[in-house]
Amino acid sequence: MTATDPLSPLVLVVEDEPQMRRFIRTFLGAHGYRVLEASTASEALLLATSHNPALVLMDLGLPDGDGISLTRSIREWSKTPIVVISARGREDDKVDALDAGADDYLTKPFGVNELLARMRVALRHASTAPVEQELDLGGLRIDFARREVTRDGQPVHLPPIEYKLLTLLARHAGKVLTHRQILKEVWGHGAQEQAHYVRVHMAELRKKVERNPARPEWLVTEPGVGYRLRDRSVGG
Ligand code: CA
Repeated sequence: MTATDPLSPLVLVVEDEPQMRRFIRTFLGAHGYRVLEASTASEALLLATSHNPALVLMDLGLPDGDGISLTRSIREWSKTPIVVISARGREDDKVDALDAGADDYLTKPFGVNELLARMRVALRHASTAPVEQELDLGGLRIDFARREVTRDGQPVHLPPIEYKLLTLLARHAGKVLTHRQILKEVWGHGAQEQAHYVRVHMAELRKKVERNPARPEWLVTEPGVGYRLRDRSVGG
């Protein structure tokens, strides 16, 4: 535990490599976070339950278990944001971690600023859970109460399914959602054979929402994983 403000967010770092842990502890401390460390899955579960951290940074390969199962266990009782940091860059691992309930995924080696930005997004989602009436994503505005979307002040007319798709991503702005999560939330099921629904409707949505659909500014593809809506008002 580093000696910082007791009110600063407490981050549980689950990582079995001592050098990596030291590196993370140092830069998190320098950015005002308090840090708890676990080098095994069992230790992590114990600390997560006893300290209720504001955020968990989770390595996947642990000596006594797997970060994906650990994510699933934590999700059974806690909504605390979980950001996976792993050397495994396979798309399947990302999808599994996100479907297990992780909020985001960064492949090692990652940049410190990138990790801090993802952590801020995850923490903001955790703290602003109450639904906002209106969202300004930097040129793209959604008025949830009126079900109105405007881009650069011009109204954007969306069929219900595309509106649902956009608002789902907007409610999770900055966070990647997997194809399965999107299917389940928008269409009510997660069947793999309907994966093309997402692709087809995303293409339609981009045509209406993006200034240049070929180079999306808001509706970003995470190859092999899903989609992320970029909040351009925070540069994230
Ligand atoms: Ca490891």
